[in-house]
Amino acid sequence: MKPSVLIIYTGGTIGMKVDPHDQVLKPFDFSQIHDAVPELGKFSLHIDTHTFSKLIDSSDIEPSVWCQLACIIRDNYDSYDGFVVLHGTDTMAYSASALSFMLDGLAKPVVFTGSQLPIGAPRTDGRENLISAVEIASAKNEDGSARVPEVCIFFGEQLMRGNRTTKANAESFRAFVSPNCPPLASSGINIRYDDRVIRLPETPNAALSVNLGLDTRVSILKIHPGITPQVVKNILLGPETRAVIIETYGAGNAPSKEWFLDTVREAAAMGKLLVNITQCPAGAVDMDLYATGKNMKDAGVISGHDSTTEAMLAKLFHLLGSGLDAESIKQALERDLKGEITVMHACE
Ligand code: ASP
Repeated sequence: MKPSVLIIYTGGTIGMKVDPHDQVLKPFDFSQIHDAVPELGKFSLHIDTHTFSKLIDSSDIEPSVWCQLACIIRDNYDSYDGFVVLHGTDTMAYSASALSFMLDGLAKPVVFTGSQLPIGAPRTDGRENLISAVEIASAKNEDGSARVPEVCIFFGEQLMRGNRTTKANAESFRAFVSPNCPPLASSGINIRYDDRVIRLPETPNAALSVNLGLDTRVSILKIHPGITPQVVKNILLGPETRAVIIETYGAGNAPSKEWFLDTVREAAAMGKLLVNITQCPAGAVDMDLYATGKNMKDAGVISGHDSTTEAMLAKLFHLLGSGLDAESIKQALERDLKGEITVMHACE
């Protein structure tokens, strides 16, 4: 039997075509995908498409859309070997991160892709991204298991773990980076997979289960020179937040002023989860390195290790929505759940 792939089109630039009548970019009918990308017909694959009834510019993505996506994958899980999610680039890293926590027991590829230029444009990057994503979504090992049983992003010749990516370039065809995790595969003449990086399912043969509980009461505080006590208070002590991601300098350093640390302590005492993420595009938080980082740790802040902001936001939504108590959430934040952080193990 031919391998089968379901392409789920949520919206975004990739699915646009210039309407010859008014020269305006409009979504094209993805059930006609083979006409737009005839190369797909050269694979020995069965390809179906599912188009969202309301196409979304990804700036409008909401957690409800992640739930919709997770349910489509769950409902079609047994009928396909892999899934390709076509998504706008702006929030693709958030959506791929969220899906990685929402799909438990995943043993099949879920490959997000999109493009910087519409698929109908002569120099489009969408064609190559789509064709490679479909190939990866259908790729199998000799024993029939999926080559990449993960939620990932294929973009600009690289396959990256979804919850390690960030959109880093608004123009380049290499729009995404994965600074703290090497690519799972690179495409050139061949697609070369890196088995040292690809994660295997935690429990082989486990059934897929979908976590739809998401609690979005999370804020992000980006530290900067000149930040005022009022701004810090508004974000850290806001009654509607259960958790705050604090984007700090370098290895997790923040101002050592008393008013700042007092506010952090007050928020921690209120039971809020405070997670330290570095503003640097690469590297990890180490709150034991400088006194300014140690102050944060002593004030009750948890290390976010080398997580991206996107992955930490999704992890918090998921953990807060899971019904776990505060202590279990803290422990889970320190653990690598879906390959989203590099946890250093002490030498034995
Ligand atoms: N604004 C678009 C979106 O994210 C850009 C894109 O598709 O790349 O949906």
